[in-house]
Amino acid sequence: MPKRFCAICGKDIDETAPHFGMCLNCYLKENPLFELPENFNFKICNYCGKFSKKGNWIQSDSYEALDIIIQAVEKLVLKEIKNDTKLDFKIIPEEDSFIYSSRGFLVNLNLRILGESITDSDISSEKVLSVKVSYELCKNCTNLKSGTYFTSILQLRCNLEDFDFLNLVINNITDFVEKLFEKDEKQYISNIDKQKNGFDLYLSTNELLNHIISFMKANYYFGLKRTKKLVGRDHQRGKNIYRLKAVIRFLPFNKNDYISIDNQTFYVENIKKNSVILRDKTGKRIIKDFDFFFTEKVMVKNVKEGSI
Ligand SMILES: [Zn+2]
Ligand SMILES: [Zn+2]
Repeated sequence: MPKRFCAICGKDIDETAPHFGMCLNCYLKENPLFELPENFNFKICNYCGKFSKKGNWIQSDSYEALDIIIQAVEKLVLKEIKNDTKLDFKIIPEEDSFIYSSRGFLVNLNLRILGESITDSDISSEKVLSVKVSYELCKNCTNLKSGTYFTSILQLRCNLEDFDFLNLVINNITDFVEKLFEKDEKQYISNIDKQKNGFDLYLSTNELLNHIISFMKANYYFGLKRTKKLVGRDHQRGKNIYRLKAVIRFLPFNKNDYISIDNQTFYVENIKKNSVILRDKTGKRIIKDFDFFFTEKVMVKNVKEGSI
């Protein structure tokens, strides 16, 4: 077999050399394994660590700028590369290139991107990506920090004189929501407003309203009324936007209490999911829906045992 030489650099080559009579080095120079944009600009939320290009905020799993930058490059640059050769990428930050803002944020840097063929690690190539980062709050964090954003309202109402019971309910709800927030930071209570007969809770999502109602149903008996109000239209999705409202009304009495309804006294024998079982003076059993106790005309009063 005649001796072969690289057509570009003249180096000896053997039959394992790739193509067109070039040595591997020259071949890779002529036929880059992958293409990269020269610059990559994107945003990091300096509150929650999400990153974004074109308005869509993506969860990162770090609060360290360099980790987030590497995740963003993997997700938004390297994943987008369309290639015949399957490549493994290594990202090597060039620390000399780091530039920090006056507030100490890493804003400019170069990353060496090494792409290696998965099947043959001899076939590799390296490029430098210049990264520029700007820092701002993502939409969710902007809403969260403003404390005024909400999509739905939950009203808790109870005619009991003291707020001990409702305070306990509020504590249970806030504990429940904090656990949801740890998993999904879109779920939070923006504000809790004390009212004459209860509390108004302003909620960050409609989904959260449903979560809380399910939680409440598993733990309490109450009357529930849901309404929705048209507040606008999402033209992009072609959907109406509703503000949801739910009123939870607790019964103003407990099991085994004596109550007075329109001057007649009853014994509360049992409280079921949607109804209350009463006994009147004669021992007659009466079943009333929860709703009965929440109508304007019915005055329910707790009375002392023995007045029956
Ligand atoms: Zn060569
Ligand atoms: Zn954020």
